[in-house]
Amino acid sequence: MKIYSYSKLSTFENCAFQYKLRYIDNIKVDKDTIERFLGNTVHSTLEYTYQNRENLLKKDKPKEAMTELFNYFWRKDYKDSITIVKRGKGAGDYKSAGARCIERYFDKYYPFDQNKVLGMEERIQIKLDAEGKYLLNGIIDRLDETPGGGLEIHDYKTGMNPPSQEKIEKERQLALYHIGVAEKYGGRKISLIWHYLMSGIEFRLEKTESQLQGVKEETMGVINEIEATEEFKTHKGPLCNYCEYFGSYCR
Ligand code: SF4
Repeated sequence: MKIYSYSKLSTFENCAFQYKLRYIDNIKVDKDTIERFLGNTVHSTLEYTYQNRENLLKKDKPKEAMTELFNYFWRKDYKDSITIVKRGKGAGDYKSAGARCIERYFDKYYPFDQNKVLGMEERIQIKLDAEGKYLLNGIIDRLDETPGGGLEIHDYKTGMNPPSQEKIEKERQLALYHIGVAEKYGGRKISLIWHYLMSGIEFRLEKTESQLQGVKEETMGVINEIEATEEFKTHKGPLCNYCEYFGSYCR
């Protein structure tokens, strides 16, 4: 039985050929984009901050310490081979934008004690049907327990433009995580929170049972489509510029 993930499904929906190269042929290409690198660096900074919150609280200048942590992760992992697609932008622009995300997050949430953190990069399994034929794995950026005993699924986004409310309501990733968390923790109120860190915009939603059922059916439909696909076609478009196979395995 194959186990899927949100990223596998969205890769297939964006370009079936990319899905084949990445997940069927297992072709690994050591090529990263600045957007992915920035996202990973911000995620690492927030993960480390929550895990070492007590240390941060002891600092004379906690905001500067948190920004320095971001700079440290950036310096440690940055490689000259990282691709910058947008014309007129350099790595320094992205680094400054990332540091601003961290400062804005600090201003809003310091001392980071709004909830009890149950897990960072929390792994969950998502079962879409009673028989367990349709399974996904997921990794939640942060799972919190509120003072009232509810659960919050937090997701950090570093894309430049936040989506509309309508798009967020149709978004599948956190709804899938909701299904996995409900199965693991049972019978508790669950809220979904998207942090769009570049703009400081936050979306917060709760899903009804019928909405979750709709997400299950839609997702099983995508899995059926993947499994029935014989010819994995290319889908050329603006996303090709960000694809690791562009110029080598796909022209
Ligand atoms: S370069 Fe474009 S068409 Fe080719 S695999 Fe990547 S996303 Fe698909």
